Amino acid sequence: MTNFTDLGLTPKLLESITAVGYETPTPIQEQAIPLVMEGHDVMGLAQTGTGKTAAFGLPLVHKLMQEEIRPKPKGVRALILAPTRELVNQIADNLRQYVKKTPIWVNVVIGGQSINKQAQALARGTDILVATPGRLLDLADRKALYLDTATFLVLDEADQMLDLGFIHSLRQISKMLGTPRQTMLFSATMPKQVEDLSKAFFE
Ligand code: AMP
Repeated sequence: MTNFTDLGLTPKLLESITAVGYETPTPIQEQAIPLVMEGHDVMGLAQTGTGKTAAFGLPLVHKLMQEEIRPKPKGVRALILAPTRELVNQIADNLRQYVKKTPIWVNVVIGGQSINKQAQALARGTDILVATPGRLLDLADRKALYLDTATFLVLDEADQMLDLGFIHSLRQISKMLGTPRQTMLFSATMPKQVEDLSKAFFE
């Protein structure tokens, strides 16, 4: 059986993992973490509750820490897109537990809250931005953030994002992102539309 210590994660992250009480990796973590650590793009069939947030979140934080760079003003180093405010907040809450002992800064962008406050928070630059697609585009239109420095992308619950009609927004976002980049896509189902979408994001 694999342990978190076998996965090559930085000691600061191992401390956080112990602090949140994870003892052993879940199956999706065991499969995805080594692939992400090696720099591969990943496409995973995963339901909520399987530990998928840590499956992409832990290696993502590890890689951002290794790069030892700070985000540029209004810049974003890693973008995580999710369909709903609730899911965005849930992902950000998890990530904030993982980055507690690191300099990595997590920001959230969701509809239904002050766009000006979100623009202010983005001004200093963001290591990991967790966002719903609509509000992200509104902020990009206002030039409140730049995505061309984003070299990590996660699409979470991709099928749900398509069901909610985000296809056009997602295609627009795909053209704004930096290259080369590492992309991770997670979906509870894998219909043809999700495969088609993945072609816009996987280089
Ligand atoms: P998720 O599928 O990412 O929404 O995670 C579901 C729940 O499982 C969350 O509360 C996580 O904090 C928790 N979790 C994730 N990975 C592990 C693990 N390896 N051991 C125990 N709990 C975990």
